[in-house]
Amino acid sequence: MHDTLLDLLRCPFCGARLALVENDALVRRGAAIESGVLGCECCAFPVVAGIPVLVADDATRGAMHALETKQHDAALFTLLGLDGDRAERFQTLLAGRTHATYREFLDILGPDAEGTYFLYRFSDPTFLTAEALVRAVGRHDGALTGPVLDLCGGSGHLTRVLAGLDRQDSSAADHTIVADLQFWKLWLASRFTAPGCAAVCCDAGAPLPFARDRFSMVVLADAFPYIWHKRLCADEMMRVAGPDGIVVMPHLHSTLGDNVSAGNTLTPGGYRDLFTPHQPRLFSDARLFEEVVEHAVVDLAHDLTPTELGAESALTLVACRHTDCFRRYAVPDTMAVTGELVVNPLYSVERRNDRSILVLRFPTPEYEKEFGAARRYLPDTVTVDADLRGRIEPAMLGTRYEDLRRRRVLIDVPARYC
Ligand SMILES: [Zn+2]
Repeated sequence: MHDTLLDLLRCPFCGARLALVENDALVRRGAAIESGVLGCECCAFPVVAGIPVLVADDATRGAMHALETKQHDAALFTLLGLDGDRAERFQTLLAGRTHATYREFLDILGPDAEGTYFLYRFSDPTFLTAEALVRAVGRHDGALTGPVLDLCGGSGHLTRVLAGLDRQDSSAADHTIVADLQFWKLWLASRFTAPGCAAVCCDAGAPLPFARDRFSMVVLADAFPYIWHKRLCADEMMRVAGPDGIVVMPHLHSTLGDNVSAGNTLTPGGYRDLFTPHQPRLFSDARLFEEVVEHAVVDLAHDLTPTELGAESALTLVACRHTDCFRRYAVPDTMAVTGELVVNPLYSVERRNDRSILVLRFPTPEYEKEFGAARRYLPDTVTVDADLRGRIEPAMLGTRYEDLRRRRVLIDVPARYC
């Protein structure tokens, strides 16, 4: 973290500013704070691997005490929840001569269904819609005048999109903050997916550790139903956004519809009522998805009432007091490669007679059940007259490049992703 982040941070308990404690725990790397202790008027919090951990639990206290005796690895392992075999495998990867990938670290840190979700996140249907939505809203005049918060941002997939939005100022990454309760996700985000963005470990079910009225956009994608203290979280999102900020909540599971791993859902009216002071509008996820895939458009000019949404499984909420935010946006076409161009890991690649044969394979039946709508744009098989097993350049694909990018057969991922 950079010192400038301190200006945005507040203690989640006493609300006071946080200041860096000059003690043995402090390690700076250039302008960044790699590890240290932050103090407020009521307690103290550790910074580990450049990530401030603004929660109060045993692991966090353990990590802080480890830091104070200069055991930086112990602090990191405590927060990553690693011991025994997993700790050893992690240590081996870290120390390896070749740079390990996001996928290799994910195998150790998030080996269950959530790890699978993260690995294939860049092409799943809810990501496609959320990405288009934030890129559309990002074109609204007020959206990027201040920092942007990706709350419950996991390992930073959408954060990467937010950091890549066109801003007037040049330091977009600096102004993009990913927050999550799970330290291991943030560690992956800051190392791979959203490097350069600030990561803050905090609980979205508690008061947020940020100053009021500061964020021009607050995004919470795919996670709100899993938060128990929804009223507090909604109030906190509006507090940190302030009267001019935009709140964007893609993919809220509805109680009235069917969802895989639904969480503690609310009705469409229930979600809307939580954000009343911010003038929320509701949109059909099914319709947003269809318009993004079919027309590369995000239409926020036509919102729906809870009655009109009926028993649809999921909805999107956008809350903004500036009504000109609610219009029809063309989603800007991006063909540029900011990381590495790779074949979507959902495909196997076989080389046959100067051609590459790509075959779509969902990792598990459960994944296919939840994200099977990806078939809407991912073809079952693709044959390409080029070798796609190694490094891929757009020129190798000729006129097919744009279509393969749009369909997410080829994806632009962070360096060393998979
Ligand atoms: Zn405090």
